[in-house]
Amino acid sequence: ARESYAKRNPNSLAAFNKATVFLPGGGTRTTLITLPFPLFIESGSGATVTDVDGHTYKDFLSDFTSGIYGKSNEVLKNAITTAISSGLQFGAHTTNEARLADHLTSRFPSMDLVRFANSGTEANLLAITTSLKHTKRKKVVVFSGGYHGSLLAHFHSGEPAGNDVPGALRVPFDFIIAPYNDIEGTKALINPVAKDVGVIIVEPMLGAGGCIPGDPEFLQGLRDYTKEIGAVLIFDEVQTSRLAPGGRQSLLGITPDMTTVGKFFGGGFAFGAFGGKKEIMSIFDVRRPDHVNHGGTFNNSPLTMVAGSTAIEQILTAERLADLNDRGDRLREKLNSALGGAGAPFVVTGLGSINQINCHLPKEDQLTALELVYFGLLERGFWIAQRGTLALNFEITDKDVDEFVEAVVESTAAVVKATS
Ligand code: PMP
Repeated sequence: ARESYAKRNPNSLAAFNKATVFLPGGGTRTTLITLPFPLFIESGSGATVTDVDGHTYKDFLSDFTSGIYGKSNEVLKNAITTAISSGLQFGAHTTNEARLADHLTSRFPSMDLVRFANSGTEANLLAITTSLKHTKRKKVVVFSGGYHGSLLAHFHSGEPAGNDVPGALRVPFDFIIAPYNDIEGTKALINPVAKDVGVIIVEPMLGAGGCIPGDPEFLQGLRDYTKEIGAVLIFDEVQTSRLAPGGRQSLLGITPDMTTVGKFFGGGFAFGAFGGKKEIMSIFDVRRPDHVNHGGTFNNSPLTMVAGSTAIEQILTAERLADLNDRGDRLREKLNSALGGAGAPFVVTGLGSINQINCHLPKEDQLTALELVYFGLLERGFWIAQRGTLALNFEITDKDVDEFVEAVVESTAAVVKATS
C-alpha cells in the first residue's frame, strides 16, 4: 500500500524530501507528518483540498476541528480583506478586541473576563499558571488520554497514573495524571495531596485521545470535588466549543471556574483564549498594584479580532452549529451501523461533528490497519487524519456524508480481509 501511495504522489514525495533538509522530520506539526511521507496540499475550495499531484479530496478532517468554515468562506474572506486594507498591525488596541471578548464571555458564562493568545496550547498554559498563581499551590491534575496542546500532551501515556510520558515534550509542571471518566479513582489519587492541588484541567470529551465523551457524572463530580478541595477547575473546550455556542459545558449545565478555547474562534487565524471568574482573571488588571503581566505581540492581532468576531456574529450561530452537529451525529450513527456496531473491528466514537474511527483489531495490527484505511480513503477521494480523526465543516453536505460512509465501509472491509 505504501508503494502504490508513493507512486501516486511523486510531487508530495519530492516536496517532503526537500522539507526534511530544513525541518526535522520534514514538517512543523508532528501529527501531520505521516509515513512514508505526508501529502502536500496546494489549494482548497468549499469542502475540498487539492494536493501537489493534482488529486482532490473531500475534507473530512477539517484541520482537527479548527477548519470548521471550509476552504472558501465568503463572509470571512470579505471581512478579512476589508481589515487588511485598514492596516495589518498597530501595536495598539482596537475596539474589535473587546468586541470578540464580549462575544466569548456572553457565550461562556464561566468566563467573566477573558484574555487572548495565539494557540490553544498557550491558552492552556496560561490558564494553568493563572490557576496556580491564584491558589498559591503547585500541583496540576490532568487526565490520561488528555491532550491540551503540544506542551501538555498526555494522550501518549495510556497509563492510569504516573509522571513520565514518552513522546511528549512537556513543561515542568508538577503533574498528577488521573484516570479519565473515573471520579472515585481520581479522588483516591488526589486526596492524599489535595491541599497542594491548584488546578484540574479536563477536556469535556477527550479529542486527540480518541473522541471519548466525558460522562456527565464524572464532569459534575470534578466540579463538586474541586470546590471541596479549593482547586480551580478548567474545561479545555478548544475542540468541544464547536458542539454548541456555549460549548459542551452549556449542554451539560456544568460551569467550570475557567475555560479555554482556540482554533476556529480566530476566524481562520492563529488563536487561543482563556477566561474565567473575575476573582481569578482580574489578576491581569494593571490597575491592581499586585497585578501580573501577560503579553504577546499577536494576542490582539487586528485581523484575528475582526475575523473571530465576524465568524461568531455571522457563521457560528446556534442554528448552524446545531445543524453541523446533527449531521455529525448522523454520520457516526450511519457509520457504526454500516460497520457492524459494538464489537465490530472498527467503531466510531465522538459527539456531534467531532468523531474518530477506532480500530479494535488485535493491538499489534491497529496502527497498520488505520494507516491502510487512511490510504483506502485517499484513493476514494476523502481526506481524514491517519489516526482516524474526523471533523465536519460547514461545506460538507448530506450527500458527501453518504458517499463517505460508503468509502469507509469499503476501505475497512478491505483491511479486515487483508489482516484476517
Ligand atoms: N486542547 C485541545 C483539546 C486540543 O485538541 C488542542 C489541539 N488540537 C489544543 C488544546 C491545542 O491547541 P493548539 O493546537 O491551537 O495549540
